[in-house]
Parts: sequence; C-alpha cells; structure tokens
Amino acid sequence: MAIIDLIIIGGGASGLSCAITLASAHRKPWFGDRRILVVDDDRSDLNQAILYNAPGVSPGTTGTELLQELRTQLEQFSVASVLESRALRIRRHPDSGFEVALDDGTTPRCEALVLATGYKRWEVEGLSNDPVRHPRGGKSNRIMLEHNGIYLVEPDLHVAGLLAGGSSQFAIAAGIGAQVAVEILSDWAGKRTHVHDVISSEKNQS
Ligand SMILES: Cc1cc2nc3c(=O)[nH]c(=O)nc-3n(C[C@H](O)[C@H](O)[C@H](O)COP(=O)(O)OP(=O)(O)OC[C@H]3O[C@@H](n4cnc5c(N)ncnc54)[C@H](O)[C@@H]3O)c2cc1C
Repeated sequence: MAIIDLIIIGGGASGLSCAITLASAHRKPWFGDRRILVVDDDRSDLNQAILYNAPGVSPGTTGTELLQELRTQLEQFSVASVLESRALRIRRHPDSGFEVALDDGTTPRCEALVLATGYKRWEVEGLSNDPVRHPRGGKSNRIMLEHNGIYLVEPDLHVAGLLAGGSSQFAIAAGIGAQVAVEILSDWAGKRTHVHDVISSEKNQS
C-alpha cells in the first residue's frame, strides 16, 4: 500500500479545518503529489450543537449541517479524502512515519499524523505519552495531549482542537486545526508559509 503523506485521526471541527487548509495549498510547487486522509467515526461534539455564535456560520445552523458543509468544502480538493473508520492503534514504523490500525482491518501507513479526536476520550493505543487532564475543559475527565507549544507531540506527530488544549468553541477548535496545517505546510515548504487566495489572480500567494 502506498504511504500517505498525512493522516488526520478525527474529522470534527479541528480535523476538517486542518485538512481544508492543508489541501488548499495543493497548487504550491512544493506541495508535489502529497495526499491527505481524514479518518473519522462520526462522533463529533458538533453533532449535539446548534450554532448562534460561531463566526461566519449562519445562526441556527446545526453542528451536523456544519460538519456536512466542511466535508463538502474539503471535497473540492482531490488531494484529500475522508474515510469512515475508527483508528484503534498507532505505531511508529521502523523505516519512517506511522502505521495506523483501523477497525476495518486495514493498516495504512503515513509519514506524519495529526490527532484531532476531541477531549472526551482517548481510545487509540500506541502513544508513548498518556493524555493529561485538560486545564480548560471544565469537567475532571476532559483530556489533552501535551505538546511543544506549536502542537507537536513528538516528531511528525501533531495534535489539534480540544485534544491540544483548546477551549470548547467551534472557532477555537477550527483555528487550532488551521494552525497545525500551517505548521505542517511550513515543514513541507522548507520555509514559513501560509495559504492566501487572492481575488485578482485567483492564484495562491504566500
Ligand atoms: C452540546 C454541545 C453544544 C455545543 N455548542 C457550541 C456552540 O454553540 N458554539 C461553539 O462554538 N461550540 C459549541 N460546542 C463545541 C464544539 O462542538 C467543539 O468545540 C468542537 O466540536 C471541538 O472540535 P474537535 O475537533 O476538537 O472535536 P470534535 O468536533 O468532537 O471531533 C472529534 C472527532 O474525532 C473523531 N474520533 C474520535 N476518536 C476517533 C478514532 N479513534 N478514530 C476515528 N475518529 C475518531 C470523532 O468521531 C469526532 O468526529 C458544543 C459542544 C457540545 C457538546
């Protein structure tokens, strides 16, 4: 099986935001033929929400509708796809990157991983550091993964959204997802970058 450049475990607010920002850079010369896979088992907190305070989101939109809009937005980019599956285990591959065991029995390999599974549960085996108590989560059973301040847990292993310590607001989770994407894109570009689409030229500019 081909090695995927990046797997994002969790396709809620932060995972989809991360994927959209990453995929939007697909025209950059340094992007090459990279591919992004989002693995998600459809248990986002957004499925319980109706939104009146999420910036740019039409008041009264349900979280489920918003998730569908984000998935549709991601579909415009052929470099990314979403797989309905649950990640059970991750392990570092002896050569490079990671192997992710999924509940459909497959074990895709990737060069880098983003963990974006929310702050309520940690069910993926194989991480070297256990989650810790989330300092802004309210309830005592909310969790996060410690990171280096720019969302890197260990080499090539990133964390996003509430699992990265963000407070539980859509804009915060999505914002952390976008920041993680920018960190990864900067690695791929070999320099600090971001992705801006410009009205006049319709070309990406950094
Ligand atoms: C009742 C309720 C109401 C809310 N109302 C608002 C509101 O009005 N305004 C607002 O801004 N925010 C609201 N929120 C908060 C908002 O929903 C969260 O902040 C946001 O969804 C967090 O994003 P996330 O990506 O960190 O986690 P999530 O969106 O929860 O996404 C995590 C994803 O990871 C997936 N996942 C987990 N484990 C695995 C695994 N092993 N394999 C594959 N996939 C996995 C889950 O299925 C899920 O899709 C509300 C939340 C709740 C619970």
